[in-house]
Amino acid sequence: MNLYPIKAGNFKLDGGAMFGVVPKALWNKTNPADQNNLIDIAARCLLIEDGDRLILIDSGMGNKQSEKFFGYYSLWGDDNLDKSLKEKGFHRDDITDVFITHLHFDHCGGVVQWNNDRTGYELAFKSAKIWSNEEHWQWAVQPNAREKASFLKENILPIQESGQLNFVTRTDKAFQKESELGFGLLFANGHTEKQMIPHIVHKEKTIVFMADLLPTAGHIPLPYVMGYDTRPLLTIDEKKLFLENAATHGWYLFLEHDAHNEIITVKHTEKGVRLKDVYTCNEVFN
Ligand SMILES: [Zn+2]
Repeated sequence: MNLYPIKAGNFKLDGGAMFGVVPKALWNKTNPADQNNLIDIAARCLLIEDGDRLILIDSGMGNKQSEKFFGYYSLWGDDNLDKSLKEKGFHRDDITDVFITHLHFDHCGGVVQWNNDRTGYELAFKSAKIWSNEEHWQWAVQPNAREKASFLKENILPIQESGQLNFVTRTDKAFQKESELGFGLLFANGHTEKQMIPHIVHKEKTIVFMADLLPTAGHIPLPYVMGYDTRPLLTIDEKKLFLENAATHGWYLFLEHDAHNEIITVKHTEKGVRLKDVYTCNEVFN
């Protein structure tokens, strides 16, 4: 098995929204804001080459939104999905499976693109199965007022109509060791209903794709929870349990949204779990 980080692009988000109740004087130390109070955010996806399967975890926001929409997110850098795949020797048509942690636009937007004459949408991965889970899908297609701006119908309906949508089998356990994708899954409900957190075992290391359970290294202290989360108190409980396990077992945490730290480990301290070391993907994967 080989693992590759795939950079689907970079953007910016309001620092206050990213840290909820935490004062700027605190979060600004780890995630410095620009003059517009925005902080750097990445859309770092993970590609798993496993036998004849090529699995992409998450897909960034894609490129079909309007200039006005992208204007809200201050895109920066020249990374994009196709360029990053090409650098690793792959093409999007090679992808057999796209695993979507949850259907917020910055995770699934890359799955859907304009068709050739821009009269409608098509899937950007011609031959891939697109993976979600049934409870999250139902949650996303009837969005609550708070998440409505994140669950975009132009992302969700084309996937539904494509015939390429698949749901993972879910037990009633929060963590299940097996899935159709070959990796373990943690189901977390604080950010959104049934967000999926992949746990991948590679060269005797456990690598966890953190998605929005831990967006950046700055989010390790328990109250540092995004304003976007639907159930912040539940996020605190889920994060506490997860980080304690991660510190005890020495897991490697792959940070999708952290523009400056690719992979981190954590340790137990008197104050709770804190950052231990920072790694590049190269150091951990090879
Ligand atoms: Zn996100």
